[in-house]
Amino acid sequence: MATNNEIAIKHTNQSQFPKVDFNNLDFGKYISDHMVVANYANKNWGEPEIIPYGDLPMSPAMLSLHYGQSIFEGMKAFKMKDGNISIFRLKKHHARMNKSLARMCMPQISEPMFTETLRTLIELDHQWVPSSEGASLYIRPIVFASEPRLGVKVSDLYKFIIMTTPVGPYFSKPYRLKVEDHYVRTAEGGTGFAKCAGNYGGAFYPAQVAKEEGFDQVLWTDHKDHQYIDEVGMMNVMFVINGKLITPSLNTAILDGITRDSILTLAKEMNFPIEEKRIKLTELEKSAKDGSLTEAFGTGTAAVVAPIQSFNIHGVDYTIPLPDANSFQLKVKKQLQDIRSGVTEDKHQWNHIIKIK
Ligand SMILES: *Cc1c(COP(=O)(O)O)cnc(C)c1O
Repeated sequence: MATNNEIAIKHTNQSQFPKVDFNNLDFGKYISDHMVVANYANKNWGEPEIIPYGDLPMSPAMLSLHYGQSIFEGMKAFKMKDGNISIFRLKKHHARMNKSLARMCMPQISEPMFTETLRTLIELDHQWVPSSEGASLYIRPIVFASEPRLGVKVSDLYKFIIMTTPVGPYFSKPYRLKVEDHYVRTAEGGTGFAKCAGNYGGAFYPAQVAKEEGFDQVLWTDHKDHQYIDEVGMMNVMFVINGKLITPSLNTAILDGITRDSILTLAKEMNFPIEEKRIKLTELEKSAKDGSLTEAFGTGTAAVVAPIQSFNIHGVDYTIPLPDANSFQLKVKKQLQDIRSGVTEDKHQWNHIIKIK
């Protein structure tokens, strides 16, 4: 795609905007008026266009439904205090999407194609970006195999779509976790580092079992012997132990979260000691018992931080203090919010600014 080309836009004649209740934004309830669509065929992406959000025709033989070539991203756009819009860490999300695509044998998407289609979409639907504190426009790019064919093969046809949904501030109620010692989300060498649809499908059942047992979520452990911590639900996980921020080091079973990376970067700037390492369940157990474990939380684009109130190892509950005003997790959440809204300086050029005339 040539970057100087205007992207063709088909405007909706039935805007859903007047129906949106911006005081009650359940995650994903309202989808904005327009979406980006591009098709891949003959080993090339065709010209992307923007069309009204709506249903697409599909073949029941579409390969993604049968063999799972389907990946996505999740990022957010914020209304800044000067009226412009910032997309948080766009480049890093684009790079991660290409990693997911490569792992699933799917074609790469160029940065201009990603950035320019998204810019045009956000300019067009800029009204949909909420302006209340902590609210944002959640952006969901997806790519999936669209070739209709029943034989097992790598698809020759794909669709790239970007849709958006306004979301309110997301306050997760503190999690009571079950430390998973039977099921795994993924294994090293698998697809855990890729944001592919199947990782979610496979994680639903263990999460449902945990819910039936009275927990809110699962704390995933390593696939070999369930001795090390991987992630929490569909978020990365962090602990404060003896005043140090500790998080599992990345491997192929762990998703390289952009919130995780941002929080580690800000912690360094705050002179908060950090360590990325394999975290042993026994260390967590011991530090919860002796009180040196003072915070535990999940990190991800949707919630930013989600406090953890307890975890259960083989039937024994360990509780963690709930965050208060001096907690690291709330301080760092506020810092992130201030960078995104333009209240404090964006030293790392994390904001991709879209000027609204
Ligand atoms: C998306 C995701 C995360 C969080 O990543 P962010 O870039 O911070 O949103 C963590 N774990 C899993 C499994 C995920 O899919």
